[in-house]
Amino acid sequence: MYQHQSIEQFHKEIEQGTIECTRVVEHYLSRVSATSHLNAFVEVFDAEARERAAELDRKKSSGARLGKLFGVVIGIKDVICYKDHKVTAASKILKGFTSLYSATAVERLLAEDAIIIGSLNCDEFAMGSSNEHSAYGKVLNALDESRVPGGSSGGSAVAVQAGLCMVSLGSDTGGSVRQPADFCGIIGLKPTYGRISRYGLIAYASSFDQIGIFSTTVEDAALLLEVMAGQDEFDSTVSSEPVPAYSENLDTTEKYRIAYFEESLEHPSLDPEIRSATYDFFKKLESQGHKVSPVRFEYLDYIVPAYYILTTAEASSNLSRFDGVKYGPREKNPAGDLTGFYQHNRSAGFGKEVKRRIMLGNFVLSSGYYDAYFTQAQRVRRLIINKTDEVFRDFDLLLMPTVPSPAFPFGDKSKDPIEMFLADLFTVFANLSGIPAISIPLSTHSNGMPFGVQVMTNRFKELTLLRASKSFPSPVEPTKERP
Ligand code: GLN
Repeated sequence: MYQHQSIEQFHKEIEQGTIECTRVVEHYLSRVSATSHLNAFVEVFDAEARERAAELDRKKSSGARLGKLFGVVIGIKDVICYKDHKVTAASKILKGFTSLYSATAVERLLAEDAIIIGSLNCDEFAMGSSNEHSAYGKVLNALDESRVPGGSSGGSAVAVQAGLCMVSLGSDTGGSVRQPADFCGIIGLKPTYGRISRYGLIAYASSFDQIGIFSTTVEDAALLLEVMAGQDEFDSTVSSEPVPAYSENLDTTEKYRIAYFEESLEHPSLDPEIRSATYDFFKKLESQGHKVSPVRFEYLDYIVPAYYILTTAEASSNLSRFDGVKYGPREKNPAGDLTGFYQHNRSAGFGKEVKRRIMLGNFVLSSGYYDAYFTQAQRVRRLIINKTDEVFRDFDLLLMPTVPSPAFPFGDKSKDPIEMFLADLFTVFANLSGIPAISIPLSTHSNGMPFGVQVMTNRFKELTLLRASKSFPSPVEPTKERP
């Protein structure tokens, strides 16, 4: 039996010899099989994880230098490539596809002696907020199996929530790390756009996508970020900004200037219990010596439409490669011509939500509507970026609830896609402006579900984000014990 507290604590035990990688891997593999009904994993790399653990134990006995993530058991979302392993973006269209190379993020984890335990379920092509759009079926929230775990990285969140790995990777295009972290009572970090290489991350919307981290402690998230971040010759959008040693510099007594958008706290869709817990949290921060001030944000109602116009436009282009020629099963073509061939493969391979978005994206890019939708949404994005710059001229941090409501029951929003889209109200801001954001557990709702608060800061200021999150008061009431 192993109970993960932090990577640092795990390494102390490794050092003392009270635990070995092989035992820890056995522990996780047995938890994974005991909770298989949660459907968090697409594939478990059991034999390989065992072999790797044995190899690492031998490395330790040989006295060799151990990597920063020595023996750390990590799950990766099924949109992240790992050489010679299947990757499908939870889509039928990629059934049986094997990665030809590893994502830079994965390479860097492995270079620091991590163990990849398996690939994690998600919404198809990372499109969704509830994990109800996966070719492998839904993932269950381990705290209440009748409720969604959030999406699109639902499997990654549940894997950490239910103790099926120590930390996991997801991707966040509009909230897919922070929202499921919020719904599952754990930490979810989306770094600055361009902080971690996207090489080997299956694209949804390339100017928004970013690999993110799920963990139970700020320290663990900091360490993973430190390992994965930084320049990469395979991704021209990744930043060459130096990567600080985040994990070694987390302690602070700094008093922050904190802003919040009045419109978001007063938004009618915000659950009243989340609203009052967030205001209580602000009071606590003030009593710790921070200064919390309201700021006007006049564009709140435009951000979800702008996000869905721009991301579907990018998705319609990114997903055009899945046509049955380069990728996807090349099925027998009943129509006999090339267009029929594409139509047949794409109709059979993509699920409903992905088709909806490809059509929406093609529509907003079509010649008659381009200016009315795409150009207009780009303008909104510019206004949001300007507003972000303005806020961070005067403030260190921006706080917001992560999601307007706690995890909802399955089926609750799946009949109305607009309702599902609108629930992304608080998370898409950080992706439109490219800033880093983290969701940390805040409290528990009267319905028993956890919810978090979201902390944001200026681009490449992850150190501030992590330090502040660590120094902030811990959750008002502890969320239910992890199963
Ligand atoms: N829920 C959002 C969407 O469906 C976010 C997805 C994501 O971040 N990958 O687009």
